[in-house]
Amino acid sequence: MNFQHTEEQELLIDTARRFVEEELYPHEQEVEATAQVTEDLRRQVIQKSLEIGLYAANMPEELGGGGLDPLTMCMLDRELGRANYALQYTVARPSNILQACVGEQRDKYLFPCIRGEKTDCLAMTEPGAGSDVRSMSCKAEKDRGDFIINGTKHFISHADVSDFVILFAATGVDNSPRGPRKRITAFLVDSGTPGYTIRPGYESVSHRGYHNCILEFDNCRVPDNQVLGEVDTGFEVANDWLGNTRLQVASICLGRCDRAFELACEYAASRTQFNQTIGKFQGVSFKLADMELKRRAAELITYQAGSRANNNQMSDMDAALAKLASTEALAFIADEAVQIYGGMGLMSDLPLERIWRDARVERIWEGTSEVQRLIISRSILRPLENQ
Ligand SMILES: Cc1cc2nc3c(=O)[nH]c(=O)nc-3n(C[C@H](O)[C@H](O)[C@H](O)COP(=O)(O)OP(=O)(O)OC[C@H]3O[C@@H](n4cnc5c(N)ncnc54)[C@H](O)[C@@H]3O)c2cc1C
Repeated sequence: MNFQHTEEQELLIDTARRFVEEELYPHEQEVEATAQVTEDLRRQVIQKSLEIGLYAANMPEELGGGGLDPLTMCMLDRELGRANYALQYTVARPSNILQACVGEQRDKYLFPCIRGEKTDCLAMTEPGAGSDVRSMSCKAEKDRGDFIINGTKHFISHADVSDFVILFAATGVDNSPRGPRKRITAFLVDSGTPGYTIRPGYESVSHRGYHNCILEFDNCRVPDNQVLGEVDTGFEVANDWLGNTRLQVASICLGRCDRAFELACEYAASRTQFNQTIGKFQGVSFKLADMELKRRAAELITYQAGSRANNNQMSDMDAALAKLASTEALAFIADEAVQIYGGMGLMSDLPLERIWRDARVERIWEGTSEVQRLIISRSILRPLENQ
């Protein structure tokens, strides 16, 4: 498989790198110190990324987006991933799942998101339903032409700056041979809808300035034209559109691997102890070799998944392998980079301690590393069990 950049990809990578260095890096310290991206800064970043065509790059051109294919999106996300998460997310993209919008939903949700006028968030997880998300208790009950929603979601990223939530709620139960199985429906619910409250979430070690929230639904009435996709097919809609989210996580992690690795190499080649640069000690240089091995392996696995996604051939296992490889490579590389810097590695004067803290969440969200291993091992074993 050839992952040589095309001319267009080179141009995009250069543009994104310049954007990250000129528009995002200068604000990193402030965001880390205040744990906030001010509304002014958020608007400014969105505006600049719209001007140079980086915003909504994942959305098809005919809908007004950048029309990048999945592999090229991996390359863009990798560049954006070098920056503080709260800042890079601001440029990131509307959720792919919004392409399931139909009729008036497109004017109300999809197009404003592509134009940078509205922001979505997505809510599945609950205090009692994490990896086993189908066990969710949040429910939506039919009441004439509406649904009445009751329940609580937690860990919902950036709901505090979102105009609406793509909410997953149970709309019934089927009896399956393995016991009761909930039917799930996706809804579009506007912030400010009576009965829908957004509360601040928990303080997190990762991603300062990027907040998780608790969403409470108390007899929240939503008309049935706010259903995304068909009733009872929420997970099918999610499966159709959200596979690339794991690729996005993998690619962002590659960008962080790059930045941590580059910093570690510079330091190993310049820091002197015992009258020689520390990179001359095998204890340090072999760390660099192992870091590069993991970085390249993660890059190849992620780009291979991206390339298969370009041909509509990316399997669940491909996406799981990419997420697992990149998030675990980042954990290793960030930790070893801190080690190479010694005490300075832990000081907030450098971006390394942040990359190290931020790396932790990547093995948890979008499906934990254990869940990725479950997907991969099932994909390996299932065909053999059916023989
Ligand atoms: C900062 C942050 C932001 C988030 N943003 C969002 C968001 O925007 N929207 C959203 O819906 N969710 C979001 N999440 C939720 C995230 O996807 C969940 O945290 C994740 O799916 C794990 O669920 P859990 O934390 O409840 O852990 P649990 O599912 O309770 O898992 C606990 C441990 O058990 C292990 N485990 C569970 N089941 C198995 C199994 N079958 N086999 C082996 N091991 C298993 C897990 O791997 C883990 O180690 C966010 C989470 C965080 C931390």
